[in-house]
Amino acid sequence: MSKVKIPDTVADVIIKLEEAGYEAYAVGGCVRDSIMGLTPQDWDVTTSAAPEKTMEIFGERAIPTGLQYGTVSVKCDGCIVEVTTFRTDGVYTDNRRPDSIAYASSLPEDLSRRDFTVNAIAYSLSDEIIDPFNGLRDINNRLLRAVGTAKDRFEEDALRMFRGLRIAAKLGLSIHPNTFSAIYEKAHLAAFLSAERIRDEFKKILVCPNTYMITCVFESGLMASFGVGSNCPDLEDLGELPVEGFSRLSGLCYALKKNAVISSPKGFLEDLHFDKHSIKVADAVCQLLMSGIPNDKKSWKKLMFAYGDEVCITAALVAKAMDKYEYASMPEDILESGECWSVKTLAIDGNALLELGYSGKSIGLALEELVAYVIEEPSHNTAETLIALAKSNILK
Ligand code: ATP
Ligand code: MG
Repeated sequence: MSKVKIPDTVADVIIKLEEAGYEAYAVGGCVRDSIMGLTPQDWDVTTSAAPEKTMEIFGERAIPTGLQYGTVSVKCDGCIVEVTTFRTDGVYTDNRRPDSIAYASSLPEDLSRRDFTVNAIAYSLSDEIIDPFNGLRDINNRLLRAVGTAKDRFEEDALRMFRGLRIAAKLGLSIHPNTFSAIYEKAHLAAFLSAERIRDEFKKILVCPNTYMITCVFESGLMASFGVGSNCPDLEDLGELPVEGFSRLSGLCYALKKNAVISSPKGFLEDLHFDKHSIKVADAVCQLLMSGIPNDKKSWKKLMFAYGDEVCITAALVAKAMDKYEYASMPEDILESGECWSVKTLAIDGNALLELGYSGKSIGLALEELVAYVIEEPSHNTAETLIALAKSNILK
């Protein structure tokens, strides 16, 4: 286990709160990640100071980003530290957010409202670890376990089920049997969450090294309101795909479409409120793969011309991982070779055609015709040949 090293900027925030007479600790994911020897993405501070006091203490550096939940963001050198007042959550009636929050009088009370034991550890500047739920022991055993009774905690806030799968997948933790079975039991409550919140968590789960949790997301029923439940196919192959780009999202859609779990990748991703570009790429990749991809360069060039290089490179990668396709490097090889497959890689541009008397739309059309020609005859991609061709066209 590593030691927690609070950065100076965060320490400065804690010191200012302490100097004003309040308790303040680093808490949550930053403490968890530090103990695991990872670099935290962000630092959260929990304090006994009421939000108005925090606002007062930090003056212009304080931004009231989540006052209704007791959170003030404090601007530091190059980062933002979220300072949240000790709180307990009131009653949850919508499986999403507490109807009200109340400020808690003590740190242990605040830690008890947190989702998982590994997220319920606080750390003081004097090097003290406050760990009432044995989060350290669970980190040691690489175990994700809900604070309190898992079923109740997921009933309060259904997003915790996604967070649990995501944190376990990201950090390579096993999920405690009670917590795991509670996810399967309470998964239907995810229907009360907004598509945006589900999408944001799901995107993070999709790019984790442990792809088993992607299958769990579906199999548990968390995505039942998007039409995918226990009919989900095995998604283990997604782990062979890079986390950058769109190959995992496209591979997922392809697996679901191929197994007739969803009828339209576009519809599925639209329901999940994915952005237009992701939908466009993943949908085109699925179309390509469903209609069968070629084994030769010329056909790939035609597809690259029609669909663009990003779609084709992604489709080839997905085919390799999921269908054991053997020519996955072809689209990239074409790109690297500098051979012509697009208007950009043609030996002449629109200006040459302007000089020949082409104008308006006919320029674009002629360039496209020339690309189609050069794809058939790669050695003819020279200015001389193409200009001669264009001339003969205009004389026609
Ligand atoms: P990440 O690595 O994604 O930042 P994190 O655990 O730090 O993971 P945050 O959203 O930054 O997640 O939340 C900070 C802390 O707030 C958590 O570690 C946890 O203690 C608490 N928390 C966040 N969301 C919830 C929730 N839905 N229910 C209970 N506690 C939560
Ligand atoms: Mg965090």
